[in-house]
Amino acid sequence: MTRSILVTGATGYIGSHTCVCLLEAGWRVIGIDNLCNSSPRVLSHIARITDRELPFQVLDVRDHVNLCRLLQREEVSAVIHFAGLKAVGTSVSQPLNYFDNNIAGTLTLLRALHQHGVRKLVFSSSATVYGEPKHVPITEDAPLSATNPYGRTKLIIEQCLADLRQSDPEWRIATLRYFNPAGAHETGLLGEDPRDTPNNLMPYIAQVAVGRRKCLTIFGNDYPTPDGTGVRDYIHVMDLARGHLASLERLFNKPDSFTVNLGTGQGVSVLEAVAAFEAACEKKIPVRFSGRRPGDVASCYASPESARELLGWRAEKQLADMCADHWRWQRNHPNGY
Ligand code: NAD
Ligand code: UDP
Repeated sequence: MTRSILVTGATGYIGSHTCVCLLEAGWRVIGIDNLCNSSPRVLSHIARITDRELPFQVLDVRDHVNLCRLLQREEVSAVIHFAGLKAVGTSVSQPLNYFDNNIAGTLTLLRALHQHGVRKLVFSSSATVYGEPKHVPITEDAPLSATNPYGRTKLIIEQCLADLRQSDPEWRIATLRYFNPAGAHETGLLGEDPRDTPNNLMPYIAQVAVGRRKCLTIFGNDYPTPDGTGVRDYIHVMDLARGHLASLERLFNKPDSFTVNLGTGQGVSVLEAVAAFEAACEKKIPVRFSGRRPGDVASCYASPESARELLGWRAEKQLADMCADHWRWQRNHPNGY
């Protein structure tokens, strides 16, 4: 029997790249998304890359009735759950929207899965659950905390999933803590398309490079890091997508749940990221320095050891690949999809 994988948030940035990986690996995939932060045009790009149509339904994960209809109709054996809101700043001004979409949305999905006997889940968590890390590289047993409502939603969902596993050992749950996804599909057909002003570094730099924005503001150059700017662990979105594939395979092959970091283990400063992007696009990126962004930490990068041991997975692409691919996507789609 061909197993169907339900992907929520399928037309989003990480979801769309993961759908490509799944389809290319021969999985049967069903995508759902409410399109609040993505375009249905993604679907034709996925089809062009994979030569396969992605069965897709516009569906909100908070819509219990229609989720149950879908689960009744399709033989879903596992779910990869990307759907959610992710802008830290907006989560501070609109916490209720974040609690509703991310927490209530996940609970509605879990209830529907429970009712229909689906017990395998891959969940998109984030390095944000480590709050202000005491040590880098960060291992999965580091203390957890939330510094904003977005982070709190991820932390609460992680705790709910742990309780669920405890209550019913049939559940097999992969909790994946992503570090900083960057880059795009190497064809330049899929990439990150922020609706509003980008919050994240890479899409902001890319929009400066393509002329949509004048200058990158660097938030702080007085951190205790080698060049004073913030250090992060940028991971190519296709490496991340492969991490989902490896997680799914483990869920089907081993009767346990696990939580792993998905990062490269390499810390990169804002200035190093700018220099790498300049090399990729062969342009100077104008920058100006401002004060630190509230809530930002100095340095955050993963220990990728658990993912290597448990999944046999490691990131393969370098910062130069992320910048080259991100730039190809942005140059081909200066105004997004
Ligand atoms: P994205 O916004 O591109 O994708 C999320 C998708 O979910 C969007 O297409 C959106 O329309 C959809 N969606 C939102 N709420 C929904 C709902 N209630 N019902 C159905 N669809 C809904 O974001 P992304 O970067 O692809 O992130 C995917 C997941 O990974 C999110 O859960 C995010 O919190 C998590 N994550 C992202 C990052 C990052 O930097 N990109 C880092 C760590 C974790
Ligand atoms: N950053 C910056 N200017 C921007 C966006 C981000 O200087 O316009 C810095 C930010 O302060 C951090 C790094 O780039 O040090 C990565 O930020 P991002 O928001 O991409 O990731 P996160 O901070 O959530 O890990």
